[in-house]
Amino acid sequence: MTQPAQSSICPRCRSTTVDIRMTSPVPGAWTVYGCNTCSYVWRSTEPAENTDPDRYPEVFRLTPAELAAFEVVPTIPPLRQS
Ligand SMILES: [Zn+2]
Repeated sequence: MTQPAQSSICPRCRSTTVDIRMTSPVPGAWTVYGCNTCSYVWRSTEPAENTDPDRYPEVFRLTPAELAAFEVVPTIPPLRQS
């Protein structure tokens, strides 16, 4: 099985904060990558739309600046007194 080159750019936000999260028990079968900027996680065996920054659907792309502006949902209500 041919293993794609290691992903070093996040398909969703194009940051380079990508780590290997898991590798297959059988060496070279698959690798799970994770982005430390936007939390996107993908397997090396997924289609190019999920793994290649240039093929990832534009509508789902994010920038690190957008991430910083997102609201935290849901907000945590005040704790009740018991
Ligand atoms: Zn990312």
